[in-house]
Amino acid sequence: MNIRDKLKRPIKDLRISVIDKCNFRCPYCMPKDIFGERYQFLKNDELLSFDEIYNITNIFSKIGVEKLRITGGEPLLRKELPVLIQKLKSIDNIKEIALTTNGFLLKKHAKDLKEAGMDRLTVSLDSLNSESYKKLNGQNLDLDRTLEAIEYSNLLGFENIKINCVVMKGINENQIIDLAEFGRKNNIIVRYIEYMDVGNINGWKPEHVVSAKDIINIIEKKYKLTPLDSNYYGEVASRYGFSDGLGEIGIISSVSKPFCSDCTRSRITADGQMYTCLFTNSGHDLRTAIRSEKLDDFEQYVKSIWENRTDQYSVLRSKGKLESDKVEMFKIGG
Ligand code: SAM
Ligand code: SF4
Ligand code: SF4
Repeated sequence: MNIRDKLKRPIKDLRISVIDKCNFRCPYCMPKDIFGERYQFLKNDELLSFDEIYNITNIFSKIGVEKLRITGGEPLLRKELPVLIQKLKSIDNIKEIALTTNGFLLKKHAKDLKEAGMDRLTVSLDSLNSESYKKLNGQNLDLDRTLEAIEYSNLLGFENIKINCVVMKGINENQIIDLAEFGRKNNIIVRYIEYMDVGNINGWKPEHVVSAKDIINIIEKKYKLTPLDSNYYGEVASRYGFSDGLGEIGIISSVSKPFCSDCTRSRITADGQMYTCLFTNSGHDLRTAIRSEKLDDFEQYVKSIWENRTDQYSVLRSKGKLESDKVEMFKIGG
């Protein structure tokens, strides 16, 4: 069954947050002064169980979802994650499972994840300078460990590993070229993400954003780029190849060039709230619905949520309409 929302967009992707905790305190997502030792994260019994995640995903797959992305918080903090991956992999219509991680714990888990059926990895890495990396992760944690994990995952045979870099004005623009060269050398696609106004706590201002155009200009001072076609409908990153044929980059321009018209992504938080946009303020409580065990009604419920979807926040933002009350990134997972 292929359903469409009010703007005729199909549902193709499901992003599953498996935990809200994180071992990093990136200032744009979980600023350290707010997420201190006393911060109350979800308790274990508030998290969806693996069976519940499986049942929910199974229903989503029946209405069109083909791709899953496991995220968090930091998803590698969820115990026994490979067990979940193996379960999700057995669902008929699911063609691909990917993981977004900060990479710090990846070396320890990469082999088990690969064996469980994880198809692709995206590692978030905002700097290749060890001092600024320590600052940007908010916990003084070492860059080498993340780099080793990327190298090891490559050796294990993970193909198309990607790096996500959130570019912030005056903070890590000077890392754009270094990351591009790292990608070229290691056969990794670096995706530069415009800093977004997700949530309400990171103090985002439009002037903190380095636009896609500026990112391209910085790279083109050293390397010529050629635009490439999208790989598939709904791909969020605009692709560019290096004109000498060695490697490619992606740019996610949610702020300067919104792509809401192709947005096929649904999201669930670790406690089972479904969000139809990264920037909405309220979710739909799937946990209560799935715990009521009426699975036929549940499919109808999810279907009607999608069919009534009208979200296009980034388009509205570009017309000057800013929301003040939005779900936080560490809950919704990106
Ligand atoms: N902890 C994992 C990680 O960092 O890869 C997964 C969750 S994290 C919320 C998912 C992605 O969102 C990361 O690539 C992160 O850099 C990105 N992100 C977080 N806050 C952001 C913001 N305000 N603007 C743009 N990207 C953001
Ligand atoms: Fe943690 Fe990822 Fe948020 Fe950084 S972006 S604080 S690694 S959840
Ligand atoms: Fe999708 Fe919302 Fe982002 Fe637009 S703003 S691309 S609808 S998540």
